[in-house]
This record gives sequence, structure tokens and C-alpha cells, in this order.
Amino acid sequence: MPVAIALDGPAGAGKSSIAKRAAKILDFIYVDTGALYRTIGLAASRNNVEPKTSPEIDKLLSQITVDLTFNDKNEQIVLLNGEDVSGLIRTPEASMMASAISAVPSVRAYLLDLQRNMAKSHNVIMDGRDIGTVVLPDAKVKIFLTASVQARAERRYKELCEKGINVQYDDVLNDVITRDYNDSHRETAPLKPADGCVIVDTTELDFEQSVEKIISVIKENI
Ligand code: C5P
Repeated sequence: MPVAIALDGPAGAGKSSIAKRAAKILDFIYVDTGALYRTIGLAASRNNVEPKTSPEIDKLLSQITVDLTFNDKNEQIVLLNGEDVSGLIRTPEASMMASAISAVPSVRAYLLDLQRNMAKSHNVIMDGRDIGTVVLPDAKVKIFLTASVQARAERRYKELCEKGINVQYDDVLNDVITRDYNDSHRETAPLKPADGCVIVDTTELDFEQSVEKIISVIKENI
């Protein structure tokens, strides 16, 4: 039976880069579930559907397909109606749209099987907000990765600047604060540490130290 590692935590805690590296070291598949919410957010934007209008969102969900696939380097590719949108979903606007749309229960239900199926066929490190609590409650290891809000905003700001995306630090900080609030206060699958998870705080750790810490938590619990 494949092994599942659930990695949850707030925006900007470093989940994706840390999980990507850890998956490579352990020879697991890395599944970024945020990309799925971002993709539905993109579909909603393209179709002028407000993230809070449930009937319209349900109609949208019945008209689109969202798939996950992996390239020859085992990097995740997300497809919206067959189109590779992996790059398009990385903007601050897509982050906020994903945060809003992820509170809609039918969106969460729509993505549940897709996420669970990935864990049925591969050893996975799956990152998200509700992986240890809802998607894979029986995951072998559950980790809640966090860091102070300032550390997370600084990392996100640097990352966006490096990608050439023009942003102000204060806007990034406000986005992180808003997303934290949205993610932890929604009714369906709110962001919270899963029962039995290991909490890892990376505020004082650099990237390599964070990866080492995650690998050691996984090895101790596997
Ligand atoms: O992880 P990422 O920042 O790409 O996620 C984008 C948004 O998608 C988050 O702010 C969160 O609202 C939502 N999300 C979620 N559940 C997940 C993964 C992401 O609600 N498992």
C-alpha cells in the first residue's frame, strides 16, 4: 500500500518548495493541491463567475475538467480542460481567487476524489490546508508547517520578485493575513492542525534546515 505524507499549513510557510525537495530525496510524488483550487479560481475568472455565487459555481464545475499529471521530472502539471495552466495560476490575483473559491463546499467536494486517487496509486507528499484533517486523515505522517506571518510574507515577496512579478511588500503581507483569515475561518475544512500531527515552525530555519527537519520527522514516523 502506498505511503502518504500530509503536509498542511498557512500560505507562505514554504510547504511547496520544502515538500518538492523532500519528495525528491525520498523518491515520492509531490502533490500540490493548492494548484487545483487556483485552477478552479482561474476557470471562474475566465467565465466571470463570482467566487461566492454557489449555483453559478456548480454550473461551472459541471462544465470543466481539472486533471493532474506529471512530466518526466515528476513535476506536477495541472490541466484545465486539457490546457496546461501551471504557470498562469501563480499570480497574486490567482492566489486571492483560490482562497475565496476554496470556501465553497461544492468546490472542495469536487476536488476530493482527484486528491484521494493520487494517494491510492503513488507514494505522495501532499500539501494543502486540509490534507491531514479531511483528504487523507489516515496518512502515515501528518505535518503542520508554519512560520510567523512576517517571515511568510517576506518569503512570498522575495519569491514573486524573483519571478519578475511587480508587487509591494505591504500588499503581500495583507494578502497573507487575509488568506490566513479566510482559510482558518471557513466552515468547510478550515485550516487547522490535524489530530496527531507534528507541528514544525520554520520562522528561524532556512530552507535547507527546514528540509532536513521535515525529512527527519518523516523518517521518525514512517
Ligand atoms: O497552497 P496555495 O497557496 O497554492 O493555495 C491557494 C489557496 O487554495 C489557499 O489560500 C487556500 O485557500 C486554498 N487551498 C485549500 N485547500 C487546500 C489547498 C489550497 O483551501 N488543500
